[in-house]
Amino acid sequence: MIPSKRYEPRHTASAVRELHPVRDLVAPPDDDDPVVLRQEIERLQALLADANAFRLDALSLVSHELRSPLNIILGYNEMLVDEAFGPLTEEQRDTLKRVEMQALLLLGQIDETLDFSRLESGRTVVEPADVVVEELLLEVESEARPFIEQRISDVEVSVHSPPVAPVLYTDREKLKVVLKNLLSNALKFTPKGQIDVSAAACVNGVEFAVRDTGIGIPRDELLRIFEPFRQVKGTLASGCRGVGLGLHIAQRFLGLLGGRIEVESAVGEGSTFRVWMPLRTTSAPVVLV
Ligand code: ADP
Repeated sequence: MIPSKRYEPRHTASAVRELHPVRDLVAPPDDDDPVVLRQEIERLQALLADANAFRLDALSLVSHELRSPLNIILGYNEMLVDEAFGPLTEEQRDTLKRVEMQALLLLGQIDETLDFSRLESGRTVVEPADVVVEELLLEVESEARPFIEQRISDVEVSVHSPPVAPVLYTDREKLKVVLKNLLSNALKFTPKGQIDVSAAACVNGVEFAVRDTGIGIPRDELLRIFEPFRQVKGTLASGCRGVGLGLHIAQRFLGLLGGRIEVESAVGEGSTFRVWMPLRTTSAPVVLV
C-alpha cells in the first residue's frame, strides 16, 4: 500500500480572516500622496500573497485528506483480489481489477495536485541519492502494470534498459514521477499499436525515451502541452482522463534536477518524449523557496 504523507497547514481560513478583515480589502487610500499609495500597494501585495498561500495550503490539505481513504479502499481491494475472504470468479476478479485501476487513477490525479501545489508554494524538496537506471525502469513498469494489463489486447508495451547503464545521482521519486507520467500518457493516447520505454547512456548522462504509435500531437500544441492544465482539444473525447498537470510537473521537476524534456510528434503517427538526465544532480538536499 502507498504510505500517506504527513501534512501541516501553515494557514487556516480563520487565521487569514483575522489577519485581513473584509473591510480592509475595500478601504480606499485617503489621498493620492505617493507615500500613502505605495503603502497601500504594499499592503494589498501582502494580502494577495497571504490569500495565495492560503489557496495553496487548502489545495494541499484537501488533496492530502483524500489520499488516506483512497489508500484504505486500495488495501481492502487487494485483500479481496488475494482471496482473503474466499475464492473469486473470473468476473469478480475482473471487476476488482477495474476498481483498483480507477482508484489508482484518482490517486495519481491527487498526487499531481499535491506536487503542483508544493511547486507553486516553493515547498518542493530535492533529495538526491544513487539511482540504478535498470531498477528504476523495472519499478516504473511494475507500478504501471494495472494500466498496461488493461490495454494488453490493443497495445504492446516494451521496456528496455541498456546492458551497462551508468548509476545516476538524482532524486529517484521525482524522476520516477516523470517517467510514469510519460508512460501513462502513451497508454492513454495510443488506441492501438506499440509503446517503447528505453534508456541509453549518452555524453555525461542518460537519455530516456517513451515512444508511442498513438494519436500524435498537432505541431502548434507541442510547446503548449507543458503549460499547466493544458490539454489538446478533442483528445479527452476518446475517453482519456487527466487534469493536464503531468507534463508541466515533469518539466519543472526536470528543471530542478538539471535535466530536460523534448517532444517530437506527428498527428496520426505517434509521439516520442525524450528525457535527458545529467549523471549528477548538483543541488544538495534542499527546500526550494
Ligand atoms: P493529462 O494527461 O493529465 O491531460 P499532461 O500534462 O500529461 O496532462 O498532458 C497534456 C496534454 O498533452 C494531454 O491532455 C494530451 O492532449 C497531450 N499529450 C500528452 N502526451 C501525449 C501523447 N503521448 N500522445 C498524444 N497526446 C499527448
